[in-house]
Amino acid sequence: MSNNKLEKSFATLKQTIPLMLKHKIPAVPTNYALWYTYVSNESAELNANINYALENKVQLSEVKTKELYRSFIAEKEEVTAWGLRQTVEAMLIELTQSLKDTRAETTQFKQTMDLCVDDLAKVEKEGLSIEEVMALVRNLVKETQNIRRRTISFNSALTDAQREIQTLRGQLEQSQKEALYDALTGLCNRRYFDEELASLSLQPNLCLILVDLDHFKKINDNYGHVMGDLVLKATAKKLQATCRDGAQAFRFGGEEFAIIVPNSNFSKARSIAESMRNGIEKIGVKDKRSGEVLGDISASFGVAELQAVMSPLALIEAADKQLYEAKRLGRNRVMPMSQ
Ligand code: GH3
Ligand code: MG
Ligand code: MG
Repeated sequence: MSNNKLEKSFATLKQTIPLMLKHKIPAVPTNYALWYTYVSNESAELNANINYALENKVQLSEVKTKELYRSFIAEKEEVTAWGLRQTVEAMLIELTQSLKDTRAETTQFKQTMDLCVDDLAKVEKEGLSIEEVMALVRNLVKETQNIRRRTISFNSALTDAQREIQTLRGQLEQSQKEALYDALTGLCNRRYFDEELASLSLQPNLCLILVDLDHFKKINDNYGHVMGDLVLKATAKKLQATCRDGAQAFRFGGEEFAIIVPNSNFSKARSIAESMRNGIEKIGVKDKRSGEVLGDISASFGVAELQAVMSPLALIEAADKQLYEAKRLGRNRVMPMSQ
């Protein structure tokens, strides 16, 4: 992130936190995101909603907050993730600043101590009265207590802040992961696929392979959904393992997968698809309950090469058409045979 952006986000955060404290808003990520967006003035509608609540002293309940979050922020997940990241980074900066401040306080304490030690040296030289010595000691004790109190409260603030940052980081990572990865197979998801295809389709020499498991409904019907899920996982693993030369596998939806093959031509992509088809045929998934190994798994493949002036959608349609052909001709095959 550029320094400028970081500075701006830090400035926004500096306003956000006091505002949240003022209105007694619980410090949870949803609220950070909401109030951060409010301060950055990104959504006129959100600001109007919050302003109305503030002006009319309407309690911003958890439900209301969630509703606002859903309506104005959740749909802009990237913005939120970006905002959260900025929040985390800004909090880190604030922590660093606090550390510096504490170090400065400690230095000041050391100076006070040095002065006290000097004064104590005078005790011997100048023969101070017992009252004067007592005053010096009292001063010393007070300073020590002060610095101890400050250090303790700083340490607990530091621990709180660190814990909060860790939670935010974890949530940020989780939400970014969920946004781009498929939970069952661990492959990149459809959303990731759409973004990747849109950006890669600007380059020439791109191929797309669409994969659909054959008669998958029967697997579910005969062995149950749990086994069906295991077959999907094993297929995903096999596709991933068979990707080469920069090819990337995605879960396209249900029992369908997509492989983007950059920097390739039709015959190279077709050969990758053929290896995948071969690999899937060899999958054996063990049913833990019966000990039976479920084999006979197969998939059909459609391959298409990006042509000049072709949209990503047209490329998907071309591959889908070939996949349909593969199904029609009896499944467990890669189409077309040649370009
Ligand atoms: P075809 O060879 O023509 O592709 O037949 P098919 O049975 O594979 O195709 P169909 O589209 O009729 O059925 C796909 C099935 O995939 C239906 C759906 O229940 C199942 N399915 C989709 N997603 C999942 C999933 O995440 N887990 C499991 N277990 N099944 C799923
Ligand atoms: Mg299907
Ligand atoms: Mg199918």
